[in-house]
Amino acid sequence: MKNNEKMRGDKQGMTNVCAICGAQINLVQRVKLIDGNYICLKKCKNMGMPDLNYTHASLETVLAHNRQVSEGTKLFTQYFLKEGSMGRLQKNVVTKGKNLYIREDMELIALAYSDYKTFYFGKQFLKACVYSMANLERCEPDISRICVDEQERIKKGLRYSFRNVEGLSEFFVEDSKRKSTKEYFDKLIATQKCNKQKNFHDTVQSDVAGDIFKI
Ligand SMILES: [Zn+2]
Repeated sequence: MKNNEKMRGDKQGMTNVCAICGAQINLVQRVKLIDGNYICLKKCKNMGMPDLNYTHASLETVLAHNRQVSEGTKLFTQYFLKEGSMGRLQKNVVTKGKNLYIREDMELIALAYSDYKTFYFGKQFLKACVYSMANLERCEPDISRICVDEQERIKKGLRYSFRNVEGLSEFFVEDSKRKSTKEYFDKLIATQKCNKQKNFHDTVQSDVAGDIFKI
């Protein structure tokens, strides 16, 4: 930013401070959160996923999301990518739609973005959120509208929502095979419900058994 622009901005009260890193930010460099806090685009918003609706998020949510991405990226590198492979996936990773990866054996679902054209300190640029399959609440068909060269394009896919998650708990994934993906997840959710019921049943049984034992 040129000095005179900065001064003009200050005079009109247009510069502000990022609530996370404390950087000075003007109108175009910031995003206003729902609780009135401003964060910088360059560093603090850029740490998160494009899926988070920042204008509807509080500072608390953004901080939780940034922790989620930093943790998720580590988990993704460790459990989804081959070591030192420039982003190639491990062989037991299944891909469903664009940017969604699953490790069934570890019951993990990941939303991940990588841009292999951008190198950051010698590593590929990578961001991921990793979720436990047990927290998958819903997976429903949805569309996303985007504007390309002033023309509206509709992307078809699925909207995923997770429970017990701080930060990004809901997102859309473009998926050309959304019908079969939905069947895959519905089956998974049903299996989990069965397991939960079975565990509950077992607990009840052991409680009953305990009571009988006491008598
Ligand atoms: Zn910042």
